[in-house]
Parts: sequence; C-alpha cells; structure tokens
Amino acid sequence: MVKETDVVVVGTGAAGLFCALHFPENTKVLVITKDEADKSDSFLAQGGMCMLRDEEDFDGFFEDTMKAGHYENNKDSVEVMIRSSRKIAKELIDYGVDFEHDGEELAFTREGGHGRPRILYHEDVTGKEITSTLLENALKRKNITIQEHVKMMDIVCDEDINECYGLIVKNSDGSIDIIKAKYTVFACGGLGGLYKHSTNFRHITGDALAIALKHGIEMEHIDYIQIHPTTLYSEKPGRRFLISESVRGEGAILLDKNKKRFCDELRPRDIVTADIRRQMEKDGTPFVWLSMERIPEETIRTHFPNIMKQCLEEGYDPTKECIPVVPAQHYFMGGIKVNLSSMTSMERLYAVGETSCNGVHGKNRLASNSLLESMVFAERAADEIKEKMKSEDDGQFEQKADGYISDADISIYNDDEKITAEYKELVLNEIEKEKSRHE
Ligand SMILES: Cc1cc2nc3c(=O)[nH]c(=O)nc-3n(C[C@H](O)[C@H](O)[C@H](O)COP(=O)(O)OP(=O)(O)OC[C@H]3O[C@@H](n4cnc5c(N)ncnc54)[C@H](O)[C@@H]3O)c2cc1C
Repeated sequence: MVKETDVVVVGTGAAGLFCALHFPENTKVLVITKDEADKSDSFLAQGGMCMLRDEEDFDGFFEDTMKAGHYENNKDSVEVMIRSSRKIAKELIDYGVDFEHDGEELAFTREGGHGRPRILYHEDVTGKEITSTLLENALKRKNITIQEHVKMMDIVCDEDINECYGLIVKNSDGSIDIIKAKYTVFACGGLGGLYKHSTNFRHITGDALAIALKHGIEMEHIDYIQIHPTTLYSEKPGRRFLISESVRGEGAILLDKNKKRFCDELRPRDIVTADIRRQMEKDGTPFVWLSMERIPEETIRTHFPNIMKQCLEEGYDPTKECIPVVPAQHYFMGGIKVNLSSMTSMERLYAVGETSCNGVHGKNRLASNSLLESMVFAERAADEIKEKMKSEDDGQFEQKADGYISDADISIYNDDEKITAEYKELVLNEIEKEKSRHE
C-alpha cells in the first residue's frame, strides 16, 4: 500500500517531535517510530539541557564545547547552537516544560567540562519532562500523525539524481507499506543497540546510518563514539543505567578499590573514562566506586530521585555507601553528514538529532549539549523544508516519485531479521574501517 504525506519524520525523540511541531497546520506530517512513542533515548536524558546564561557566558560556553570536542568541532554549528539556546528554552517553557527554578529565576546545574553552571534541569529526569511535553503537544496537533511500531526498512530514492521520495516501512502486523513524502527527515537517534554495553534503548540500532551507507549518502566521523564514564555496574543483561555527570558536578568523587580518589571527576567524558579504565586495569576490578558522601542527603533525594531509586533497586543506598560504576557506550558524535539546515547530501532528505552530524560536538560531546543540539537543528530543518515547499512544483515531484515507487520491489523487506543483520554489519564494518583510517 502507498500512503502519502507532505513530510515523514522517522523517530519520536526530542529531534523528531520538535521538528514535527515546527510545521504549520496545513502541512501533513507523519511521524513513525519502531517502538512505543515514549521509548526513545531522549526520554532517558537525566542531567539537563544547556542554555547560554548571558552574553558574558558566550565565550566560556563556546570554549567548553570546543575543548570537550578536542577542537574538531564545526565552529559555525557551535555558534548557531549556543546563540539559539535561549530561544529553544523559551519555546520549551511555552510548550509547558517545567524547568527547575530558584525563586523567580531559572535554576542551573553544572556537569563535567562546564566552566560554570549553565544546565537547565527537571529533577534528574529532564529528558522525560521535555520529550513527554513535546509528545503531548504533538498529539494535540491535527496535522501530525504519530504511528508506533512502524519500522523504517529503507528509503525510496533515485540514486542517479540523488533524490529521496519517501520510505519503505514494516508495520507491526508484518505488512510492508511505501510512504510517499515530499520530504523525509531521519531522527533515528544513535547506535547503542549495536553494542553489548550501552545506556541506549536496545532498539536504537543506527538504522538510518545503514540506509545512508547503502545509498551512498555522505557520512561524517562514524567512528566518533562516546563512552560515558559512569553507569551503574550490574551483572544483569540489557541497558546500562546512567549515573549522570551532574552527580559528579554536585560533588561525587571516584574511588579505587581501596576507596582512594584517583582522578579529577569534572574533566570531559573521554578523559574521565580513560582514567577509570586505567584504574580498573590496575586494580583488576570490573568497576570503580562512586561516593556521594560530599553531597547533602537532601540534595541526593531531591535532585537525583531517579538515580536514588535505581541504586536502591540494585541493592545500594547512595546516601550511605559507595556505588559501583563502569564506562559504557553512550552517545554517537558522528553520523549522516548535514549542513547547518540539517540537509544531507541527498535532495529532499534531512537528518536531525543524534543520527546526524553537523560537527557541533567534534570528537567528544560536552555534557547536556545534545538535547539542545537536537532541537536547534530540528527546527532549522523544518524551517528550510517549509521554505522549499512554498516554491515546490508538486506535479514534477509526483511524476518522479511515482515512477520510483511503482518500480520498488518491496518483497525483499519481508525478511526483517536478515536486513537487520545486514544493516548491523554494514555500520560496524564502516566504523572499523574509519577507525583504522585514523590509526
Ligand atoms: C541514559 C541517557 C542519558 C542522557 N542524558 C542526557 C542529558 O542529560 N542531556 C543531553 O543533552 N543529552 C543526554 N543524552 C543524550 C540525548 O538523550 C540524546 O542524544 C538525544 O535525546 C537524541 O535524541 P534523538 O531525537 O536524536 O534520538 P532518540 O531520542 O534516541 O529517538 C530516536 C527515535 O528513532 C526511532 N527509530 C530508530 N530507528 C528507527 C526505524 N528504523 N524506524 C522507525 N523508528 C526508528 C526510535 O524508536 C526513537 O523514537 C542522554 C542519553 C542517554 C541514553
């Protein structure tokens, strides 16, 4: 069956929803997700979202982002992100996001790599607060349709003229549909599901990256994968639970097997990760300890209730004892190469959020820059698509798209397992190739 829409967005995380919300009522937007709408990594974000405090903060915010990224960041992207941050925060508040306040003023917390507190937060569940609010707003909009358990299997495109006409998707009942769309937006998140130890949802498996590789769409820094230094150590299988950087920002310290401090906990993630790995090797242990002794008990309970709950479930009371922590795959700085309007190297195809790479994070992401980046560049994608749609020749689009859609062989997508395995291999091989190019 062929379904038609103006814009199809793949993913219900912060990037996908924010993009969808920026189209006017007369633009039909279909948003699909391979799982339930609230099962995205955006819901898992704990620490918060950065915001430029005031004009004096610009140089510090810029330098902290560049320093964390080993100065490999795209400076234009960094500037756009920082300059847009106050607008994005205001929009979120207008949508109903409840950021923490200190009296009348917004409250800020601090995380590793930041020279000063500039992170907006909601307890330790900021991602849930932001993304559930966006989802509520999107569900109310007449022009937005959200479909759960619909999996993107491929795009329909003309590789010769490098143009995308929509998607091939698999529905929960196993049927295959084609979605014809004037514009397609990948907002598919990272690739943690490809790794054994990751803080990501298991279904976030870099599908858009595989599809991009398959069709020769340009990629950037596919080997730039961030490991988070502190996830709660567990013998159980599945997703690793993150112990947010803001816990260290509030004063928690890392200890070796003899409960001695061994590093500066507030340095960027890759450096703290390397310190922990070195210590684990030296001690011959599968984890190191994190002590929250220096944080007032009341702060642990009020600022980190979710972390507190998870630790208790795992058998540790962080107000009384150290908790075991270990580094795990966490974030993907690389991705599908995009420009400042989030357009890929293929016409009519955009990529936003973690699946894309506009170079904002360089080699390593600064804490709490990714929700912000996702939304800044999702809005820019919507803005450019809206402009392009104004001067669109619909007849020409229909003619080109219909030709490719009628030729598409959808039967090959019945074997989901085979395609999933092929896509996984494609992405992991490319990462290895890129790694060896850098060595
Ligand atoms: C535990 C954790 C804590 C974090 N804490 C912070 C923080 O404090 N601050 C911060 O800024 N960032 C944080 N991050 C990072 C941040 O949450 C993500 O980078 C960001 O939210 C990515 O948003 P996204 O919309 O790009 O992707 P996601 O939110 O991951 O959404 C991806 C969507 O794509 C869908 N999808 C994927 N493949 C397909 C397919 N083939 N077909 C259909 N749908 C598909 C998924 O179902 C999902 O809906 C954290 C991440 C994790 C995992």
